[in-house]
Amino acid sequence: CGIIARVGHDDAIGDLLGALRTLEYRGYDSAGIAVQNGHGIEVHKREGRIADLESAVAGQTISGSVGIGHTRWSTHGAPSDENAHPHTDCHGEVAVVHNGIIENYAELRDRLSEAGHEFVSETDTEVIPHLMEEHLRHTDPETAFRRTIGELSGSYAVAMLVRDEDAVFATRRGSPLVLGLGDGEYFLASDIPAFLEHTSEVIYLDDGDVVHLTPDGYRVTDGDSRPVERPIQTVDWDP
Ligand code: GLU
Repeated sequence: CGIIARVGHDDAIGDLLGALRTLEYRGYDSAGIAVQNGHGIEVHKREGRIADLESAVAGQTISGSVGIGHTRWSTHGAPSDENAHPHTDCHGEVAVVHNGIIENYAELRDRLSEAGHEFVSETDTEVIPHLMEEHLRHTDPETAFRRTIGELSGSYAVAMLVRDEDAVFATRRGSPLVLGLGDGEYFLASDIPAFLEHTSEVIYLDDGDVVHLTPDGYRVTDGDSRPVERPIQTVDWDP
């Protein structure tokens, strides 16, 4: 339903939770965040309101400057803690938030299960981290990300963390995703209000665009890995 990603130099948790609050109006049944905490990828997610997620996070010493967040409106699998996003692979190498529907998830899930992957949710989304885990065995994270999304059919906006990478990988097809260019920080969101408090400079991504976002900049490439220039636009709405 709602996606946010944030990379910068200072702590991301407040920005992620604040963004999820601005996405609440769209409706949702569960919410979650994941950050690079310096040792690995830390995920907090639960069914229910953002306030419940906030109280869960408030009791933890969680910090990280690169992270992703999601409000879920379930399409595959009931609202539950397990089905909430972000979703991870078997070994905590990646965390994924996804809007939309992966049409071919059943056949991908069968193939991955036969190869030994254990699924813990009922979502269509969970095939994405497991596919990524497979591809990461053979290649670098960006190529693995391209190969992963190359196997998906359906509509999606996806943002992903990969262990030890100070970056967010993202793409969209048939589902909105906008890049926000802040001061020393960058955002990706399904809706501009999610980051409007921080910046009004935006890039509307096209279907098939792949974004590599780090605290020092962003790179947008098309489905064939060719760099593409998308215009920077200024939105004049009030935050
Ligand atoms: N299809 C995914 C799920 O059911 C994503 C739903 C959404 O867009 O929030 O978990």
